[in-house]
Amino acid sequence: MGSSKPYLVLLCPRCGSVRYVKEGQKTALCLRCGYRMPLNPLKVRILLRTRSREAATEAVKKYKMKAAEAREKTKKRGARTLRLA
Ligand SMILES: [Zn+2]
Repeated sequence: MGSSKPYLVLLCPRCGSVRYVKEGQKTALCLRCGYRMPLNPLKVRILLRTRSREAATEAVKKYKMKAAEAREKTKKRGARTLRLA
């Protein structure tokens, strides 16, 4: 009973995209750049380890939102610089 494996939320070392996988796999394919990442904490950045699938999807969503916000801020700064120039 209860032998389900935890989920890992991790960051692709090549393109920085975030996804979650079940622990126990040796590798995970990045859905964005196609890189096959080794599930090795020394090689990829693991953001979260959780037994709850909801917590894993939530973490992915939050991370993507943060990344989008950061991009948005950079864009705005760039636009202002252009206008002033
Ligand atoms: Zn990638």
